[in-house]
Amino acid sequence: MEIIKAIDILSDPESDMIYATKEIDDSHIMGMEALGKQIPKKALNQRIKNEELIGSCPTCKLLWDVGNWERYCSNCGQKLDWSK
Ligand SMILES: [Zn+2]
Repeated sequence: MEIIKAIDILSDPESDMIYATKEIDDSHIMGMEALGKQIPKKALNQRIKNEELIGSCPTCKLLWDVGNWERYCSNCGQKLDWSK
């Protein structure tokens, strides 16, 4: 199953699982956030520092620098896309 399909199912308001209890609701939100981080996002504010391409994690919102040797943000786990 593709990640985007799983997110669609988890976020479907017609699902009788959602809102059944606060714990289930919280679990759906946590699952959607974790799956969402598996979809690569481009690093923001890309720039050269000490001859290395770095940027800011798009999920940590500019609070965390990442380097182009990293496939995932080491702070939040966001999958990174360094393609041009
Ligand atoms: Zn991050």
